[in-house]
Amino acid sequence: MIVRRRWTAAATTVILFSAVLSHPASGAAAPADPAAPISLSATETALVRVQLRDQAQLDRLVATGADLANRPRARDGRILADLVLSGTQLDELTAQGATAVQIVQRAGDGNRHYADSVRAAQARTAAGLRAPAAGQRSTAAATAVDTLQVQQAYWWTTTGQTFLQAQVATTATDDPDVEITVSWRTADGATGSFPLYRFEDSGEYQYHYALPQPVPSRPVQLTATSSLGGVSRAVTPTLWPNASPPPLPAGYQKDFIDAYLTPVDIQARIKRLARQHRDLVDVIDLPNKTQGYRRNAVGYLGDPAVAALVVESVRFGDQNMNGVQVRTVDPGRANRPLTVGYRDRVLTVSLATDTAGKTVSTTDEVAAAINARQPDRFRAIVEDGSAGLPMPVAGPTRLDDGLQGTEVPARPWTVQALRLGVHRDGSRVGVLAYSQEHAREWATPLVTLEFAERMLANARTDPATRELLEQVDIFVIPTVNPDGANYSFNDFNFQRKNLVNHCTGAARDPKNRTSWGVDINRNYTVGSYFDGYVGASANCLSGNYAGTAELSEAESGNVIALAQDHPNIKFAMNVHSYGGYFMWPPGAYRADGRVTLPRPSIDESTLFLNSARRIVGAIAQERGTVTWPSQTGPVADVLYSAAGNSADQLYYELGIFAWDFEVGNDRWNPATNQWEGVGFQPPFDEAHGESQEYAGGLVEMVRVARDYAAEAAAD
Ligand SMILES: [Zn+2]
Repeated sequence: MIVRRRWTAAATTVILFSAVLSHPASGAAAPADPAAPISLSATETALVRVQLRDQAQLDRLVATGADLANRPRARDGRILADLVLSGTQLDELTAQGATAVQIVQRAGDGNRHYADSVRAAQARTAAGLRAPAAGQRSTAAATAVDTLQVQQAYWWTTTGQTFLQAQVATTATDDPDVEITVSWRTADGATGSFPLYRFEDSGEYQYHYALPQPVPSRPVQLTATSSLGGVSRAVTPTLWPNASPPPLPAGYQKDFIDAYLTPVDIQARIKRLARQHRDLVDVIDLPNKTQGYRRNAVGYLGDPAVAALVVESVRFGDQNMNGVQVRTVDPGRANRPLTVGYRDRVLTVSLATDTAGKTVSTTDEVAAAINARQPDRFRAIVEDGSAGLPMPVAGPTRLDDGLQGTEVPARPWTVQALRLGVHRDGSRVGVLAYSQEHAREWATPLVTLEFAERMLANARTDPATRELLEQVDIFVIPTVNPDGANYSFNDFNFQRKNLVNHCTGAARDPKNRTSWGVDINRNYTVGSYFDGYVGASANCLSGNYAGTAELSEAESGNVIALAQDHPNIKFAMNVHSYGGYFMWPPGAYRADGRVTLPRPSIDESTLFLNSARRIVGAIAQERGTVTWPSQTGPVADVLYSAAGNSADQLYYELGIFAWDFEVGNDRWNPATNQWEGVGFQPPFDEAHGESQEYAGGLVEMVRVARDYAAEAAAD
């Protein structure tokens, strides 16, 4: 029996933030309540909503590896970000002028929510943000020096509350102090106003906008005014998304998800579906096996606080290397050379001695000797700060892979896709839904599996579903990144990347073990980091590390291989969480001048937007969740630049209409009048709600594909 121990992720010299920058929902946050200080212990890790001091602080975070899952939100020169960080890192940020606003999720919360869900328990709702203090508005200048254009004005009603959202551009693009106010009037004569906030991206002014604002009833007129005297023409806000799916027929079956699902659970579910619906399902084993839930066995030889080496096995711990021991010994005689021997699972380094019999080997010499004499079994790295120091007599140290999961097979993993349809021969238009490129996004496989279950269960009883399965060839990859997901469930909730460790040298120190891996959704070939695009990193410890090369990882290769092998696939949805977005290409731009990948043609843009409205309408059918117009659009515009993401490769290289969901929309809290974020691993109730509403969105994507194919056939 191998005794497993958990490595503690200590503060690193590279500040590492593997998480999100806040989305617009967070734009209106207030400073933390001083009565309720937010603190973490030094080694505790949590998802924290932080108000950064300024843009420069954000830029530094990005430079040191911040992982932006959502769009940075600037207001009054301040930026609100959701970051995964340790207490030490939070202290550093606070010392630099940042303010913690809210702990969205502590590391242990995910496991508790998982356990709760397995017991089908209800869990608490996430805590929200406080209301902002009303800003002082400056009075308008006497003479107008700018012109305003209302780019978007949309309204909708959900669960009895009507909302209004507007986006307005000023011609005074270079003036950061322009203030824009929107005034509205409803059909029954009520009026009101709210301020908009300037939005810049990559140093370029985009527009002014605000979060959706509650209004008493349907707004019929909207006007914008600026502090420079500009006044827009009055516009009539448009109903959003103004599309609804066909009503569900009586007896339509849904709700197949009753708990969070680990990769092991997902594997079993795929098997069960294939058995239950033999006539409608193929299971496809994707070509690249992943590394598996495995790590090298590793240990410190010596005291890291004084002088030590990191020694690791070249093979994985489960390959008979867990429990192997390493030690240095004093030969007890004068004038001995440095020797290295390996016997009976013990690596013994006998230190060199001088004429007086004193040991004289340095840390560097011992590391070099291990690497030279036992290159097939061991790697030794001098611990940071230990270079050139005398190597102490130390050990024996037991090497261990540190993995906690006991029910995960330690072998390469075969990623699987479900193929659903009556005609699975390439003769029908294909649709691909794939999820969990990012390990910690636990709600996302629930969405794709609920979707698959609905299509199959209703095929026998609902003629409309049967017809869709006649006309469309459906592919589903529920978990693209099972190794990372296993690690997220068993070892570190906030794991985003896969488990492949490409780090070299000191970055392989096990104190960095929660920061290793490749960001699968930055490892593709179009608009990549390697091509000079923004939003990925060459730092192996960064939350959005791009890998050693384009498609260096099994996981990303699998997605592309499936799409390439099935050229009938014409539509794809890449399912992520959280924030409530619906997006399409371009998904990346170059830093200099913010030059995006090519924009789709007018016709294609129309198809993207019209399909988006249909799918957003279908999502709303379940529990009224409306994805905001400000979060519906090209990735590079509504979220951020994500160099080397999968949707861009599917679209630009394979001609697939490729979308991204960020499921987990902010929830409106009428008690506080605030939008509240839901996080990666919300109480299961919320994750369940997300699975139901976004599965409905995927069913609508199948209808979009059917209609597209029918139109193409008619042309
Ligand atoms: Zn993601």
